[in-house]
Amino acid sequence: MIPMVDDHGRRMRKLRLSLLDTCNLRCTYCMPEKMEFLPSDQLLSQQEILGITENLLGFGLQEVRVTGGEPTLRREFMDIMVGLSQLPIKRLGLTTNGITLSKYLEDLKHDTDLKSINISLDSLDPDNFKRITRRDLFQRVFKGIVQAQDLGFEVKLNCVLMKGVNDHEIHDFIEFSAQYQVEVRFLELMKIGQANRGSLKDSFMEADEAANQILSRYEMSSLPVAMDSTSYKYKLSNGAVIGFIASESKPFCGSCSRWRLSAEGQLRACLMKEDGVNLRGVSPSDYESRLRELLGMKPIGRIEKIEQDMYQIGG
Ligand code: SAM
Ligand code: SF4
Repeated sequence: MIPMVDDHGRRMRKLRLSLLDTCNLRCTYCMPEKMEFLPSDQLLSQQEILGITENLLGFGLQEVRVTGGEPTLRREFMDIMVGLSQLPIKRLGLTTNGITLSKYLEDLKHDTDLKSINISLDSLDPDNFKRITRRDLFQRVFKGIVQAQDLGFEVKLNCVLMKGVNDHEIHDFIEFSAQYQVEVRFLELMKIGQANRGSLKDSFMEADEAANQILSRYEMSSLPVAMDSTSYKYKLSNGAVIGFIASESKPFCGSCSRWRLSAEGQLRACLMKEDGVNLRGVSPSDYESRLRELLGMKPIGRIEKIEQDMYQIGG
């Protein structure tokens, strides 16, 4: 194994793997209603995805989180998850909006090594969920959360906090966390694509402001997290476990250990940088030089914004 450590001592350990850019929701901060997604012949094939991932494991990547777009919409989703489970990955995770999760959960439990499922949910109120995602599908996500918990997956909810949009639901999320024993992570809205244009620009809510609101009702004790974790975590006096991903106000670039593979095969060193290296069709003997080139592309400080949307990069 050849570890990839950059000049700042950051070792690359985690891979975000995008299966496609298509989605069945239209979260206002992520994509417009009218969308044109990549034609399927431009996507990496199942074999290419598994082959590239296997090669990357040889360079010290240990944890893989499958994402998109909405990864469960990929036709070969289960085959890819089964294939990934046959590779020596230390921890396999999935990030999903939960809409079509239920139909896969039993198979994921029995046929794959999937441990952790992060489900994105920005509202517990079906009407507000519909306003944010432009789809009336809250109940499907809720069902997915409960079933995933029942099957013993480690489930976390990801909620992007937005002022005037869902900040009035913070306490509902905390009660939900305590009642369903599920960790809820509050994300700051990042200056990415749609989210940095139009009226959403004014919806940014800093993690500290949310934490202060929470402190006015609950005691918070901090919980340990891994050195290269993007979130910091608390246990609350009502039993809830919450985290904050404060990518804007407290960027974690100095300890970032992530690379991201786009659905077309571009490996990026940073969510906020459009350039990267292409791995499609690259022979295993050329990987090391490509990856060393990429190491040098990883910024040490936070880049302010990016025009591309998260679904295009692999969130
Ligand atoms: N469709 C899947 C989902 O929603 O979980 C996976 C892809 S989605 C792009 C991954 C995560 O990125 C979601 O939790 C979403 O809320 C988050 N996200 C997208 N745009 C964002 C932004 N501008 N700031 C913060 N989080 C964002
Ligand atoms: Fe789809 Fe996820 Fe983007 Fe929402 S955040 S539109 S669910 S890709």
